[in-house]
Amino acid sequence: MTPFTYNDQGLCAESVPLAEIAEQVGTPVYVYSQSAIEAAYDRFANALTAELGAERTLVCYAMKANSNVGVLAALAARGAGADIVSEGELLRALAAGIPASRIVYPGVGKTRQEIATALQAGIHQFNAESLPELEQIDAVAREMGVRAPVALRINPNVDARTHHKITTGRAEDKFGIDADALPEVTERLRQLDAIQLTGLAVHIGSQVTEEEPFRQAYTRMAELYRWLQDEGWPVSRIDLGGGLGIVYRNEPAPDVEGYARLVRETVAETTDAQLTFEPGRHLVGNAGVLVTRTLYLKQGRVRPILVVDAAMNDLIRPALYEAWHDLKPVAREGREDELVQMDVVGPVCESADTFARARPLPPLKAGDLVAFFSAGAYGAVMASGYNSRLPVPEVMVQGDQFAIVRRRPTFQEVLSTEQVPGWLGRPADVEAADATEDTRKTG
Ligand SMILES: *Cc1c(COP(=O)(O)O)cnc(C)c1O
Repeated sequence: MTPFTYNDQGLCAESVPLAEIAEQVGTPVYVYSQSAIEAAYDRFANALTAELGAERTLVCYAMKANSNVGVLAALAARGAGADIVSEGELLRALAAGIPASRIVYPGVGKTRQEIATALQAGIHQFNAESLPELEQIDAVAREMGVRAPVALRINPNVDARTHHKITTGRAEDKFGIDADALPEVTERLRQLDAIQLTGLAVHIGSQVTEEEPFRQAYTRMAELYRWLQDEGWPVSRIDLGGGLGIVYRNEPAPDVEGYARLVRETVAETTDAQLTFEPGRHLVGNAGVLVTRTLYLKQGRVRPILVVDAAMNDLIRPALYEAWHDLKPVAREGREDELVQMDVVGPVCESADTFARARPLPPLKAGDLVAFFSAGAYGAVMASGYNSRLPVPEVMVQGDQFAIVRRRPTFQEVLSTEQVPGWLGRPADVEAADATEDTRKTG
Protein backbone atom coordinates (compact mmCIF):
# COMPACT_ATOMS: atom_id res chain seq x y z
CA MET A 1 0.00 0.00 0.00
CA THR A 2 1.35 3.41 -0.89
CA PRO A 3 -0.30 6.51 0.54
CA PHE A 4 1.08 8.55 -2.38
CA THR A 5 -1.16 8.33 -5.45
CA TYR A 6 -2.23 10.59 -8.32
CA ASN A 7 -5.64 12.12 -8.81
CA ASP A 8 -6.74 15.10 -10.91
CA GLN A 9 -4.85 17.41 -8.54
CA GLY A 10 -1.61 15.56 -9.10
CA LEU A 11 0.35 13.48 -6.60
CA CYS A 12 -1.30 13.37 -3.19
CA ALA A 13 -0.32 12.25 0.30
CA GLU A 14 -3.47 10.39 1.37
CA SER A 15 -6.07 12.97 0.19
CA VAL A 16 -3.89 16.08 0.34
CA PRO A 17 -2.31 17.33 -2.90
CA LEU A 18 1.46 17.68 -2.43
CA ALA A 19 1.26 20.86 -4.53
CA GLU A 20 -0.95 22.42 -1.87
CA ILE A 21 1.54 21.59 0.89
CA ALA A 22 4.43 22.92 -1.20
CA GLU A 23 2.49 26.13 -1.81
CA GLN A 24 1.73 26.71 1.87
CA VAL A 25 4.89 25.45 3.53
CA GLY A 26 7.49 26.03 0.83
CA THR A 27 10.05 23.59 -0.53
CA PRO A 28 11.92 21.42 0.11
CA VAL A 29 9.53 19.77 2.57
CA TYR A 30 9.21 16.28 4.04
CA VAL A 31 5.67 14.88 4.02
CA TYR A 32 4.66 11.85 6.10
CA SER A 33 1.48 9.81 5.93
CA GLN A 34 0.15 8.94 9.37
CA SER A 35 -2.01 6.09 8.01
CA ALA A 36 0.98 4.52 6.30
CA ILE A 37 2.99 4.60 9.53
CA GLU A 38 0.09 3.10 11.46
CA ALA A 39 -0.50 0.42 8.83
CA ALA A 40 3.17 -0.62 8.87
CA TYR A 41 3.22 -0.72 12.67
CA ASP A 42 -0.02 -2.69 12.91
CA ARG A 43 1.10 -5.25 10.38
CA PHE A 44 4.44 -5.75 12.11
CA ALA A 45 3.02 -5.91 15.64
CA ASN A 46 0.09 -8.10 14.67
CA ALA A 47 2.29 -10.59 12.81
CA LEU A 48 4.47 -10.96 15.90
CA THR A 49 1.68 -11.19 18.43
CA ALA A 50 -0.01 -13.80 16.22
CA GLU A 51 3.11 -15.98 16.37
CA LEU A 52 4.36 -15.19 19.88
CA GLY A 53 1.41 -13.88 21.88
CA ALA A 54 0.96 -10.29 23.06
CA GLU A 55 2.47 -10.90 26.53
CA ARG A 56 5.74 -12.04 25.01
CA THR A 57 6.09 -9.22 22.47
CA LEU A 58 7.39 -5.67 22.92
CA VAL A 59 7.84 -3.47 19.83
CA CYS A 60 10.21 -0.56 20.44
CA TYR A 61 10.33 1.75 17.43
CA ALA A 62 13.96 2.62 16.59
CA MET A 63 13.36 6.35 16.58
CA LYS A 64 16.67 7.31 15.03
CA ALA A 65 14.97 6.48 11.70
CA ASN A 66 12.58 9.41 12.15
CA SER A 67 12.30 11.09 15.53
CA ASN A 68 9.79 13.80 14.75
CA VAL A 69 7.42 14.11 17.74
CA GLY A 70 4.38 13.89 15.47
CA VAL A 71 5.57 10.54 14.13
CA LEU A 72 6.39 9.37 17.66
CA ALA A 73 2.99 10.42 18.98
CA ALA A 74 1.23 8.46 16.23
CA LEU A 75 3.22 5.35 17.14
CA ALA A 76 2.79 5.93 20.89
CA ALA A 77 -0.98 5.97 20.37
CA ARG A 78 -0.63 2.50 18.82
CA GLY A 79 1.19 1.22 21.90
CA ALA A 80 4.72 1.33 20.52
CA GLY A 81 7.74 1.65 22.78
CA ALA A 82 11.00 3.26 21.65
CA ASP A 83 14.57 2.26 20.97
CA ILE A 84 16.72 5.29 21.82
CA VAL A 85 20.39 5.98 21.22
CA SER A 86 20.89 9.23 23.14
CA GLU A 87 19.54 11.42 25.92
CA GLY A 88 17.98 13.66 23.28
CA GLU A 89 15.99 10.75 21.90
CA LEU A 90 14.91 9.81 25.42
CA LEU A 91 13.53 13.31 26.02
CA ARG A 92 11.75 13.28 22.66
CA ALA A 93 10.21 9.87 23.29
CA LEU A 94 8.93 10.93 26.72
CA ALA A 95 7.65 14.24 25.28
CA ALA A 96 5.70 12.29 22.65
CA GLY A 97 4.02 10.15 25.30
CA ILE A 98 6.03 6.94 25.09
CA PRO A 99 6.27 5.51 28.62
CA ALA A 100 9.79 4.95 30.00
CA SER A 101 8.80 1.38 30.81
CA ARG A 102 8.76 0.71 27.05
CA ILE A 103 12.11 2.27 26.23
CA VAL A 104 15.28 0.32 25.44
CA TYR A 105 18.67 1.97 25.14
CA PRO A 106 21.44 0.48 22.96
CA GLY A 107 24.52 2.38 21.72
CA VAL A 108 28.28 1.99 22.09
CA GLY A 109 28.98 5.37 23.65
CA LYS A 110 26.52 6.22 26.42
CA THR A 111 27.86 9.00 28.66
CA ARG A 112 27.53 9.07 32.47
CA GLN A 113 24.95 11.79 32.15
CA GLU A 114 22.93 9.83 29.61
CA ILE A 115 23.00 6.74 31.82
CA ALA A 116 21.87 8.77 34.83
CA THR A 117 19.01 10.43 32.93
CA ALA A 118 17.79 7.06 31.64
CA LEU A 119 17.97 5.51 35.12
CA GLN A 120 16.12 8.49 36.55
CA ALA A 121 13.39 8.05 33.94
CA GLY A 122 13.15 4.33 34.75
CA ILE A 123 13.64 2.84 31.29
CA HIS A 124 12.86 -0.78 30.46
CA GLN A 125 16.45 -1.75 29.73
CA PHE A 126 19.94 -0.73 28.68
CA ASN A 127 21.52 -2.82 25.96
CA ALA A 128 25.18 -2.68 26.97
CA GLU A 129 27.83 -3.05 24.30
CA SER A 130 31.09 -3.50 26.26
CA LEU A 131 32.59 -4.37 29.63
CA PRO A 132 33.74 -0.79 30.33
CA GLU A 133 30.20 0.39 29.63
CA LEU A 134 28.83 -2.21 32.10
CA GLU A 135 31.22 -0.90 34.72
CA GLN A 136 30.08 2.65 34.03
CA ILE A 137 26.38 1.74 34.28
CA ASP A 138 27.09 -0.11 37.52
CA ALA A 139 28.92 2.90 38.98
CA VAL A 140 26.19 5.37 38.09
CA ALA A 141 23.39 3.10 39.32
CA ARG A 142 25.28 2.47 42.57
CA GLU A 143 25.64 6.22 43.18
CA MET A 144 21.93 6.64 42.60
CA GLY A 145 21.09 3.71 44.85
CA VAL A 146 19.20 1.81 42.14
CA ARG A 147 19.72 -1.34 40.08
CA ALA A 148 19.98 -0.97 36.32
CA PRO A 149 18.16 -3.48 34.09
CA VAL A 150 20.73 -4.45 31.46
CA ALA A 151 20.84 -6.84 28.51
CA LEU A 152 24.14 -7.70 26.87
CA ARG A 153 24.26 -6.77 23.22
CA ILE A 154 26.04 -9.57 21.47
CA ASN A 155 28.00 -9.30 18.26
CA PRO A 156 26.99 -12.61 16.65
CA ASN A 157 29.51 -12.34 13.81
CA VAL A 158 26.85 -12.56 11.11
CA ASP A 159 27.01 -10.65 7.84
CA ALA A 160 23.59 -9.08 7.22
CA ARG A 161 24.49 -8.80 3.51
CA THR A 162 23.35 -5.21 3.28
CA HIS A 163 25.31 -2.04 2.39
CA HIS A 164 28.66 -2.15 4.22
CA LYS A 165 27.95 1.12 6.01
CA ILE A 166 24.80 -0.28 7.65
CA THR A 167 25.89 -3.78 8.60
CA THR A 168 26.54 -4.01 12.33
CA GLY A 169 26.88 -7.65 13.32
CA ARG A 170 30.23 -8.74 11.88
CA ALA A 171 33.13 -9.38 14.23
CA GLU A 172 35.00 -6.35 12.87
CA ASP A 173 32.07 -3.96 13.44
CA LYS A 174 32.13 -1.69 16.48
CA PHE A 175 28.88 -3.01 17.94
CA GLY A 176 28.17 -5.45 20.73
CA ILE A 177 30.13 -7.84 22.91
CA ASP A 178 31.93 -10.67 21.19
CA ALA A 179 30.00 -13.88 21.81
CA ASP A 180 33.22 -15.64 22.81
CA ALA A 181 33.80 -13.05 25.54
CA LEU A 182 30.47 -13.80 27.21
CA PRO A 183 31.92 -16.09 29.95
CA GLU A 184 34.49 -13.45 30.89
CA VAL A 185 31.88 -10.67 30.92
CA THR A 186 29.40 -12.62 33.03
CA GLU A 187 32.20 -13.50 35.46
CA ARG A 188 32.86 -9.80 35.95
CA LEU A 189 29.11 -9.13 36.24
CA ARG A 190 29.06 -11.15 39.45
CA GLN A 191 30.83 -8.19 41.10
CA LEU A 192 28.64 -5.52 39.53
CA ASP A 193 25.78 -5.60 42.03
CA ALA A 194 24.00 -2.54 40.69
CA ILE A 195 23.35 -4.34 37.41
CA GLN A 196 20.42 -6.64 37.00
CA LEU A 197 21.14 -8.85 33.99
CA THR A 198 17.87 -9.21 32.08
CA GLY A 199 19.07 -11.12 29.04
CA LEU A 200 20.60 -10.59 25.62
CA ALA A 201 20.25 -8.24 22.66
CA VAL A 202 21.34 -8.29 19.04
CA HIS A 203 21.01 -6.06 15.97
CA ILE A 204 22.73 -7.20 12.81
CA GLY A 205 22.19 -4.26 10.48
CA SER A 206 19.73 -2.23 8.50
CA GLN A 207 17.80 -2.73 5.25
CA VAL A 208 18.17 -6.49 5.61
CA THR A 209 16.24 -8.20 2.83
CA GLU A 210 17.12 -11.87 3.34
CA GLU A 211 15.95 -14.24 6.07
CA GLU A 212 19.17 -16.18 6.42
CA PRO A 213 21.19 -13.58 8.40
CA PHE A 214 18.32 -13.22 10.88
CA ARG A 215 18.04 -16.99 11.19
CA GLN A 216 21.74 -17.37 11.94
CA ALA A 217 21.85 -14.54 14.45
CA TYR A 218 18.65 -15.52 16.27
CA THR A 219 19.62 -19.17 16.49
CA ARG A 220 22.89 -18.09 18.09
CA MET A 221 21.04 -15.83 20.55
CA ALA A 222 18.80 -18.69 21.66
CA GLU A 223 21.88 -20.85 22.32
CA LEU A 224 23.59 -18.14 24.33
CA TYR A 225 20.42 -17.44 26.29
CA ARG A 226 20.12 -21.10 27.28
CA TRP A 227 23.79 -21.10 28.23
CA LEU A 228 23.16 -18.13 30.57
CA GLN A 229 20.29 -20.03 32.19
CA ASP A 230 22.48 -23.11 32.60
CA GLU A 231 24.99 -20.87 34.37
CA GLY A 232 22.25 -19.89 36.80
CA TRP A 233 21.49 -16.36 35.55
CA PRO A 234 17.82 -15.45 36.05
CA VAL A 235 17.42 -13.98 32.57
CA SER A 236 14.04 -13.45 30.92
CA ARG A 237 14.49 -11.32 27.79
CA ILE A 238 15.97 -11.35 24.30
CA ASP A 239 15.99 -8.19 22.21
CA LEU A 240 16.13 -9.16 18.54
CA GLY A 241 16.88 -5.68 17.15
CA GLY A 242 15.54 -4.15 13.95
CA GLY A 243 16.78 -4.20 10.40
CA LEU A 244 13.83 -5.45 8.39
CA GLY A 245 14.07 -3.65 5.05
CA ILE A 246 11.69 -1.88 2.72
CA VAL A 247 11.32 -1.74 -1.06
CA TYR A 248 13.16 1.27 -2.49
CA ARG A 249 13.37 -0.05 -6.02
CA ASN A 250 13.32 -3.75 -6.86
CA GLU A 251 14.39 -5.42 -3.64
CA PRO A 252 12.38 -8.48 -2.58
CA ALA A 253 9.40 -7.22 -0.54
CA PRO A 254 10.03 -7.87 3.15
CA ASP A 255 7.92 -10.74 4.40
CA VAL A 256 6.72 -9.62 7.83
CA GLU A 257 4.77 -12.79 8.48
CA GLY A 258 7.74 -14.90 7.40
CA TYR A 259 9.95 -12.93 9.75
CA ALA A 260 7.54 -13.54 12.65
CA ARG A 261 7.53 -17.25 11.85
CA LEU A 262 11.32 -17.29 11.80
CA VAL A 263 11.35 -15.68 15.25
CA ARG A 264 9.00 -18.31 16.59
CA GLU A 265 11.10 -21.14 15.17
CA THR A 266 14.50 -19.82 16.22
CA VAL A 267 13.83 -18.15 19.57
CA ALA A 268 10.26 -18.47 20.82
CA GLU A 269 10.01 -22.25 20.68
CA THR A 270 13.52 -22.84 22.00
CA THR A 271 13.55 -20.39 24.94
CA ASP A 272 11.15 -18.90 27.49
CA ALA A 273 12.32 -15.34 26.78
CA GLN A 274 10.17 -12.23 26.42
CA LEU A 275 10.98 -10.82 22.98
CA THR A 276 11.70 -7.21 22.06
CA PHE A 277 11.88 -5.81 18.52
CA GLU A 278 13.43 -2.57 17.31
CA PRO A 279 12.09 -1.84 13.81
CA GLY A 280 12.95 1.60 12.45
CA ARG A 281 13.08 1.96 8.68
CA HIS A 282 10.43 -0.67 8.12
CA LEU A 283 7.76 1.37 9.94
CA VAL A 284 8.40 4.79 8.41
CA GLY A 285 10.57 4.50 5.30
CA ASN A 286 7.83 4.25 2.72
CA ALA A 287 5.51 6.58 4.65
CA GLY A 288 7.43 9.70 3.66
CA VAL A 289 8.41 11.74 0.60
CA LEU A 290 10.67 14.71 0.15
CA VAL A 291 9.02 17.30 -2.09
CA THR A 292 11.35 19.60 -3.94
CA ARG A 293 11.00 22.27 -6.61
CA THR A 294 12.99 22.39 -9.82
CA LEU A 295 15.20 25.46 -10.01
CA TYR A 296 16.78 24.99 -13.42
CA LEU A 297 16.99 22.55 -16.26
CA LYS A 298 20.60 22.81 -17.30
CA GLN A 299 21.89 21.44 -20.59
CA GLY A 300 24.77 19.27 -19.39
CA ARG A 301 27.40 18.09 -21.81
CA VAL A 302 26.38 14.47 -21.46
CA ARG A 303 22.67 14.80 -20.65
CA PRO A 304 20.21 17.29 -19.16
CA ILE A 305 20.76 18.13 -15.49
CA LEU A 306 17.77 18.89 -13.33
CA VAL A 307 18.76 21.23 -10.49
CA VAL A 308 16.30 20.99 -7.60
CA ASP A 309 16.03 22.95 -4.35
CA ALA A 310 16.63 19.91 -2.10
CA ALA A 311 20.24 18.87 -1.52
CA MET A 312 22.45 16.25 0.06
CA ASN A 313 22.26 18.07 3.38
CA ASP A 314 18.48 17.45 3.39
CA LEU A 315 18.56 13.82 2.19
CA ILE A 316 22.03 12.33 2.47
CA ARG A 317 21.27 8.70 1.62
CA PRO A 318 22.28 8.86 -2.06
CA ALA A 319 25.60 10.56 -1.19
CA LEU A 320 26.33 8.38 1.86
CA TYR A 321 25.10 4.94 0.81
CA GLU A 322 24.74 5.23 -2.98
CA ALA A 323 21.04 4.84 -2.20
CA TRP A 324 18.43 4.86 -4.94
CA HIS A 325 15.24 6.88 -4.38
CA ASP A 326 12.33 6.78 -6.77
CA LEU A 327 11.53 10.21 -8.15
CA LYS A 328 8.18 11.33 -9.56
CA PRO A 329 6.79 14.59 -10.89
CA VAL A 330 4.03 15.99 -8.68
CA ALA A 331 1.84 17.47 -11.43
CA ARG A 332 1.10 14.21 -13.25
CA GLU A 333 2.56 10.77 -13.75
CA GLY A 334 5.06 10.51 -16.62
CA ARG A 335 4.20 8.42 -19.70
CA GLU A 336 6.59 5.75 -20.98
CA ASP A 337 6.90 7.39 -24.41
CA GLU A 338 8.05 10.79 -23.13
CA LEU A 339 10.83 9.79 -20.73
CA VAL A 340 14.23 11.46 -21.08
CA GLN A 341 17.34 10.50 -19.12
CA MET A 342 18.46 13.24 -16.73
CA ASP A 343 20.78 13.72 -13.81
CA VAL A 344 19.09 15.16 -10.74
CA VAL A 345 21.27 17.31 -8.49
CA GLY A 346 21.02 19.71 -5.57
CA PRO A 347 22.59 23.16 -5.13
CA VAL A 348 25.31 22.15 -2.64
CA CYS A 349 28.92 22.64 -3.71
CA GLU A 350 29.87 18.96 -3.81
CA SER A 351 29.72 16.52 -6.70
CA ALA A 352 28.29 14.04 -4.21
CA ASP A 353 25.20 16.24 -4.15
CA THR A 354 23.69 14.13 -6.92
CA PHE A 355 20.41 12.35 -6.28
CA ALA A 356 20.18 10.38 -9.50
CA ARG A 357 22.16 9.77 -12.68
CA ALA A 358 20.64 9.05 -16.09
CA ARG A 359 17.21 8.74 -14.55
CA PRO A 360 14.36 8.44 -17.08
CA LEU A 361 11.95 11.29 -16.30
CA PRO A 362 9.12 13.03 -18.14
CA PRO A 363 9.75 16.60 -19.35
CA LEU A 364 10.27 18.94 -16.41
CA LYS A 365 10.91 22.66 -16.31
CA ALA A 366 11.88 25.25 -13.76
CA GLY A 367 9.20 25.59 -11.11
CA ASP A 368 7.88 22.02 -11.40
CA LEU A 369 7.61 19.97 -8.23
CA VAL A 370 9.10 16.50 -7.91
CA ALA A 371 8.89 14.02 -5.03
CA PHE A 372 11.60 11.69 -3.77
CA PHE A 373 9.97 8.50 -2.51
CA SER A 374 10.92 6.28 0.45
CA ALA A 375 12.25 9.31 2.33
CA GLY A 376 10.48 8.68 5.64
CA ALA A 377 13.46 6.93 7.27
CA TYR A 378 16.98 8.32 7.70
CA GLY A 379 15.95 11.47 5.83
CA ALA A 380 15.11 14.51 7.97
CA VAL A 381 16.98 13.05 10.97
CA MET A 382 20.27 12.95 9.08
CA ALA A 383 19.98 16.49 7.72
CA SER A 384 22.74 19.01 8.36
CA GLY A 385 23.14 22.73 7.99
CA TYR A 386 25.86 22.42 5.36
CA ASN A 387 26.09 25.43 3.04
CA SER A 388 24.03 27.32 5.68
CA ARG A 389 20.88 25.82 4.29
CA LEU A 390 17.91 25.93 6.66
CA PRO A 391 16.52 22.67 8.09
CA VAL A 392 13.67 21.25 6.01
CA PRO A 393 10.20 21.51 7.53
CA GLU A 394 8.19 18.35 8.12
CA VAL A 395 4.49 17.87 7.54
CA MET A 396 2.20 15.06 8.64
CA VAL A 397 -0.93 14.15 6.74
CA GLN A 398 -3.98 12.32 7.97
CA GLY A 399 -6.84 11.84 5.51
CA ASP A 400 -7.63 15.26 4.08
CA GLN A 401 -5.80 17.29 6.72
CA PHE A 402 -2.18 18.18 7.22
CA ALA A 403 -0.12 19.75 9.99
CA ILE A 404 3.37 21.21 10.10
CA VAL A 405 5.09 18.97 12.65
CA ARG A 406 8.39 20.82 12.39
CA ARG A 407 8.56 24.33 11.04
CA ARG A 408 11.44 25.80 9.11
CA PRO A 409 13.45 27.99 11.50
CA THR A 410 14.44 31.49 10.46
CA PHE A 411 18.01 32.47 9.65
CA GLN A 412 17.94 34.67 12.76
CA GLU A 413 17.12 31.64 14.93
CA VAL A 414 19.95 29.64 13.45
CA LEU A 415 22.42 32.51 13.76
CA SER A 416 21.38 33.22 17.35
CA THR A 417 23.43 30.30 18.67
CA GLU A 418 26.66 31.74 17.24
CA GLN A 419 28.74 34.72 18.21
CA VAL A 420 31.90 36.50 17.19
CA PRO A 421 34.58 36.11 19.89
CA GLY A 422 34.87 39.23 22.01
CA TRP A 423 38.49 39.84 20.95
CA LEU A 424 37.43 40.24 17.33
CA GLY A 425 35.04 43.02 18.20
CA ARG A 426 31.63 43.29 16.67
CA PRO A 427 30.95 43.43 12.96
CA ALA A 428 30.87 47.00 11.65
CA ASP A 429 27.34 46.80 10.30
CA VAL A 430 26.01 45.71 13.71
CA GLU A 431 27.77 48.68 15.32
CA ALA A 432 26.30 50.92 12.66
CA ALA A 433 22.79 49.53 13.15
CA ASP A 434 23.03 50.02 16.92
CA ALA A 435 24.30 53.56 16.44
CA THR A 436 21.32 54.35 14.22
CA GLU A 437 19.04 52.79 16.84
CA ASP A 438 20.64 54.96 19.55
CA THR A 439 20.25 58.08 17.45
CA ARG A 440 16.60 57.26 16.94
CA LYS A 441 16.07 56.71 20.64
CA THR A 442 17.82 59.89 21.67
CA GLY A 443 16.77 61.91 18.66
C1 LIG B 1 19.47 1.51 13.82
C2 LIG B 1 19.08 0.48 14.80
C3 LIG B 1 17.84 -0.14 14.72
C4 LIG B 1 16.86 0.13 13.61
O1 LIG B 1 17.32 -0.28 12.37
P1 LIG B 1 16.31 -0.30 11.14
O2 LIG B 1 17.08 -0.88 10.03
O3 LIG B 1 15.92 1.09 10.89
O4 LIG B 1 15.15 -1.17 11.54
C5 LIG B 1 17.49 -1.05 15.70
N1 LIG B 1 18.34 -1.35 16.71
C6 LIG B 1 19.55 -0.78 16.82
C7 LIG B 1 20.42 -1.15 17.95
C8 LIG B 1 19.97 0.15 15.89
O5 LIG B 1 21.16 0.71 15.98
